[in-house]
Amino acid sequence: MLKIAIYGKGGIGKSTTASNLAAAFSKTGLTVLQIGCDPKADSTKNLLSGKKIDSVLDVIKSGKNYSIEDLVHIGYNGVLCVEAGGPTPGQGCAGRGIITAFDKLEELGVYEKYKPDIVLYDVLGDVVCGGFAMPIRGGYADNVFIVTSGEMMSLYAATNIVTAIENFAKRGYAKFSGLILNKRNIENELEVAQKAAKEMNGEIICVIERDNLIQVSENQGKTVVELFPESNISKVYENLARKVLEVCNG
Ligand code: ADP
Ligand code: MG
Repeated sequence: MLKIAIYGKGGIGKSTTASNLAAAFSKTGLTVLQIGCDPKADSTKNLLSGKKIDSVLDVIKSGKNYSIEDLVHIGYNGVLCVEAGGPTPGQGCAGRGIITAFDKLEELGVYEKYKPDIVLYDVLGDVVCGGFAMPIRGGYADNVFIVTSGEMMSLYAATNIVTAIENFAKRGYAKFSGLILNKRNIENELEVAQKAAKEMNGEIICVIERDNLIQVSENQGKTVVELFPESNISKVYENLARKVLEVCNG
């Protein structure tokens, strides 16, 4: 089982990247479990025809009886979708939901039941504290990829995430496996990002151009890989899937 985390600043394109990546993996016959680790709980909606599912925290908080099927939803091409969820804004630690959700998935035997080939954690990386650091440590993820643009704030967040990974790496946890450049079309974007990657001792493993088909698909609750399988942008995600496997297995 490959355990991969996709980190990055809020709004940078993590969920878009993660869900298209999950869709691309599924087309090669792999079983993917995508776990949204953002209090927004919208990581998997484009794999579920736009449907927002109840997060693990929502389900637990409801106080009702529940089973695995209430937490794990089957999306496009069999991709397994989970949202960890977060607390009510202003109340409690936003990362707490992640810890609770991870415990619950194990307790219910989700991994034994579905036997995923790949677990994809989609994690908000603005602040890598408490719960948000969970996927990096505790043996959850083995490889961390960071989505960034060439914008300052996004590269700043990326640098912080790399620092957090390095701090934990001493104890044998996840390793930084590369940047995914999701372009915003700022000036000299590739050069700026390459320079930053070098400073992080990493590489840009994939460049994703801005593409209007992403919005068109999103409006229909889909990934581009599902809705426009023959488009250039879908090919980019399929190449990313190959590259990620190469890096993780290499
Ligand atoms: P995050 O999960 O990091 O918060 P999202 O994946 O939700 O970010 O993306 C934020 C917005 O940016 C979405 O509306 C998405 O459609 C858009 N977006 C992301 N990547 C691209 C891209 N390569 N081209 C065009 N729009 C994009
Ligand atoms: Mg997201």
